[in-house]
Amino acid sequence: MSNADWLTRTQAALWHPCTQMKHLERMPPLPIARGEGPWLVDFDGRRYLDCISSWWVNLFGHANPRINAAITDQLGRIEHAMLAGCTHAPVVALSERLGKLAGLGHVFYGSDGASAIEIALKMSFHFWRNVGQTGKTGFVSLRDGYHGETLGALSVTDVALFKDTYAPLLHPSHQVMSPDWRRAEPEESAEAYALRAAASLEDFLAECADTTAAVILEPLVQGAAGMAMYHPIYLACAREMCDRYRVHLIADEIAVGFGRSGTMFACEQAEITPDFLCLSKGITGGYLPLSCVLTSDTVYQAFYDDATARGFLHSHSYTGNALACRAALAVLDIFDTDDVLAANRLKAARFTELLAPVAAHPRVRNFRHTGMIWAFDVDHAPPGFSRDFHQRALERGLFLRPIGGAVYFMPPYVIEEPEMALMARVTLELLDQS
Ligand SMILES: *Cc1c(COP(=O)(O)O)cnc(C)c1O
Repeated sequence: MSNADWLTRTQAALWHPCTQMKHLERMPPLPIARGEGPWLVDFDGRRYLDCISSWWVNLFGHANPRINAAITDQLGRIEHAMLAGCTHAPVVALSERLGKLAGLGHVFYGSDGASAIEIALKMSFHFWRNVGQTGKTGFVSLRDGYHGETLGALSVTDVALFKDTYAPLLHPSHQVMSPDWRRAEPEESAEAYALRAAASLEDFLAECADTTAAVILEPLVQGAAGMAMYHPIYLACAREMCDRYRVHLIADEIAVGFGRSGTMFACEQAEITPDFLCLSKGITGGYLPLSCVLTSDTVYQAFYDDATARGFLHSHSYTGNALACRAALAVLDIFDTDDVLAANRLKAARFTELLAPVAAHPRVRNFRHTGMIWAFDVDHAPPGFSRDFHQRALERGLFLRPIGGAVYFMPPYVIEEPEMALMARVTLELLDQS
């Protein structure tokens, strides 16, 4: 079967995510036959560098031998057992390790990022109810924040394109100023701007803490906003205010967790621990859907009771799937044995160097970098820029998907010098050409 055969069949049988299907007439999906490290290979044998880690999930490349071996071993033991009424070795071991890494000792599992957000929102609300604060039902999030697309997660998301159509179905939430430093005044530092944004969060909490269950935010990088980045002092301020106003802090590290921000978890850069930490995406190295919410003893104890209804009666069928947990354990093993965070620091420094001509390009604005994420805005990006850039990058062997006028790189951690050089060189050519 060739690429063309698969395209005909996918158009007839599938409904693709985040896609106006009619647009596929002009911009067909890439039929992937197999993967190899940071490369995707189509049915005609053409190779594409996966510059965005298959929507931010892949950490150690496609068909990684170590993750493959772990999953294969687990397949011969138990693929899945329901987690209500059963437990198993991979889920216990993973919970212990995640708890230690995050400093939050109780792990509740979901399947996708959005399901983790639903869990955190419900748990926060239910905590306040269990301690007698039934008025705390509201949530506050950052402007341009993204937390997923199920109704609860979409309620705290602030991306008009995804949200407006469904507004009548959503629970109202409040948005406060984002610390995104691109919006700072010309003479204002990222830190000063973050402090100004924190002051606006404080204004909100001073007025509404009694009716607010939690602040939810994406630590350091607002991914779907076009990789908007901000100073860690904002997180320190948010933590302090949440304590002072008795409001939970939910850290959505679904995109930035597992080393993406440069540290294992982005919250570490502000030396804070949230009340709820939501993880997914990289958790299985991009192999299998898995998410979790980690929380504190304080939260856990408020549910621990003889009364069933005081418990957290939430579930998903595939909660704590054994294959997914084994993949996640293999990922944590790779972090340890390969000292990935240190290796990434060297790779990041090198890629930033290679991108210097891109950063200096006259069409490039707000070049930015956090950990293993790089982004810039293209000046006066015309309508259709994103689609066009994607298409022209594909022709040159790069799989990239700009968000509006923001081009970003979020490569798998197995990226090496030649691939980094390719990304930088092709990007420069594309900027010169259109
Ligand atoms: C992707 C993402 C989600 C949603 O995760 P899904 O697995 O797509 O449901 C939530 N929050 C952030 C920050 C994300 O990047």
